[in-house]
Amino acid sequence: MGRNKKRDNRSTRIFFIAAILIVVMCVGFLFKNRIMLFFDKVVAGAMIENGNDDMDDIDENILADEKGMDDTNDHMDDDDEDDDMDDDSPDHTKIDRDGKNQDKDDTGYDDDGKRLIEDPDDILVLVNKTRYLDADYKPNDLVVPDVKFSFDGEHEKKHMRREAAEALEEFFGQAHEEGIYIFALSGYRSYNTQKWLFENRANKVGEEEANKLIARPGESEHQTGLAMDITSQSVQFDLKTKFGETKEGEWVRDNAHRFGFIIRFAKDKENITGYNYEPWHIRYVGKEAAKDIYDRGIALEEYLK
Ligand SMILES: [Zn+2]
Repeated sequence: MGRNKKRDNRSTRIFFIAAILIVVMCVGFLFKNRIMLFFDKVVAGAMIENGNDDMDDIDENILADEKGMDDTNDHMDDDDEDDDMDDDSPDHTKIDRDGKNQDKDDTGYDDDGKRLIEDPDDILVLVNKTRYLDADYKPNDLVVPDVKFSFDGEHEKKHMRREAAEALEEFFGQAHEEGIYIFALSGYRSYNTQKWLFENRANKVGEEEANKLIARPGESEHQTGLAMDITSQSVQFDLKTKFGETKEGEWVRDNAHRFGFIIRFAKDKENITGYNYEPWHIRYVGKEAAKDIYDRGIALEEYLK
């Protein structure tokens, strides 16, 4: 009898240990991505700095990304920077380009003083407030680059065109080798996503005000699949002007051209690009053009003139 009881106790103990192990494994599997992201971010360093509950920070970030597009806007900086840049674009009343007046003069510009881009697949394509992409344009070679992202899960914005994605992998690889931990936040964005973002903003602050921060549909470089917004732990995985002053932002500014990228909206080029300084937005143009643009300190508009 005593022996049986002992055996029962042992069986019960083994059963409980097995049950706990199974539960731990299930939880581990369910939160695998979050746990991996957590470790990535621990490696990214700086977590020791303020001793915050970092897991909470990460969760907030993931949730922020999941809850809407607000964090992923291009030309949208939550920083308390002055909005002192005058909108120099013509005054428009139409948000959407569908059904717009396509009458063009000899130069190819329509009534709005804008023109449709005819070679959207060109690596050197120029997209800005006067040159827009067709609503139906979507690159046919979009892939997800194998780099660290600031968020989890599958998403349209993880994509880039193949050539740009491969260059981004090299770029991030070199950064990490040098102890610079940068994260991809927002790449390809469809016309409709951009339209949604712009309209959402315009409904709150009006079109003109919205256009200082967010590109109109068709006018965002993100639709080309050649741009990526990048971030770091030092700016709370957000898009902020002060990213340019962090060691990650400085490294990006000094090295992006070696991999074929430019800081598309440089400081002091606002009157040419039409947008405020965006140290986080890199655009793939190929190594030759990137080096030339970097060496001469010019904007893409000036390079293509
Ligand atoms: Zn961007």
